[in-house]
Amino acid sequence: ATPTALMVGTGRGAQLGILIRGPEILESTRRVDTIVLDKTGTVTTGRMSLVDVVAHGATDDEVRRVAAALEHGSEHPIARAVAEAAPRAEHPEVSGFANREGLGVVGDVAGRRTLVGRPALLEAEGLVVPTELAEALDAAQAQGRTPVLVGWDGAARGVLVVSDTVKPTSAAAVARLRELGLEPVLLTGDHERAARAVAAEVGITTVVADVLPAGKVDEVRRLQESGRVVAMVGDGVNDAPALAQADLGIAMGTGTDVAIEAADLTLVSGDLRVAGDAVALSRRTLSTIR
Ligand code: ADP
Ligand code: MG
Repeated sequence: ATPTALMVGTGRGAQLGILIRGPEILESTRRVDTIVLDKTGTVTTGRMSLVDVVAHGATDDEVRRVAAALEHGSEHPIARAVAEAAPRAEHPEVSGFANREGLGVVGDVAGRRTLVGRPALLEAEGLVVPTELAEALDAAQAQGRTPVLVGWDGAARGVLVVSDTVKPTSAAAVARLRELGLEPVLLTGDHERAARAVAAEVGITTVVADVLPAGKVDEVRRLQESGRVVAMVGDGVNDAPALAQADLGIAMGTGTDVAIEAADLTLVSGDLRVAGDAVALSRRTLSTIR
């Protein structure tokens, strides 16, 4: 490939809203046959809203305040929705905050060790999930929503249900990727039913859900070992290792800096349709050189 043609391609990319790490990146795009899409913040807007709160062994207000206070320290899309569950002035004091990437958050809230996150996070620390809350979890999942547990003193005490919306451009983006001959795979740490609901809405049939943070990179590697040439599109901190492992890592410009740094390309506007433009551009650029 001549450096000049690749530079021209890079410039054209900038016009399309694609930041390309280096001209040589366009070469690796050409053979890509599989595109792994992170769900939250990539296929969906990632702007979650809190749709329900169920408390057990605590008041509704207590559950809201405690969860909001702890999530205030996280930038996860779920955390942003939960942090707004109670006005800032009502948040109890938090110390020893820690983020458990892809699982939730932990810390001392008003002096009590508290966890907010997916059931696996609470279960790993031995907190009991009462039947009432297990049922609320199940009901939320059945609706394709994402339930988050909050717990302290040995038990889960509430479920906060958040809901996300698919980006209006995602279905068209998936159709375009298929036209380009790419097989889309939806990859998420969220539960299977929420993932299936989103997949059905945008036209994806292959879903890998309930993935722990380290599992995203494993999934990309597994696809590569089966002979696929893999592009990965993501926005989160926990997507970064998978973006680096993929043959072509694509970050959302609206996502975290960590994801952008790990990626080969950045889609400035966060519009997934531009992923197709990137693949098409690369193929055009390379066909004029060869
Ligand atoms: P995705 O792969 O869809 O971008 P993540 O890997 O970031 O999602 O998160 C996976 C799951 O972990 C979420 O669906 C949620 O259950 C839980 N989780 C992650 N971060 C948080 C948080 N800050 N608060 C509550 N739950 C969280
Ligand atoms: Mg994400």
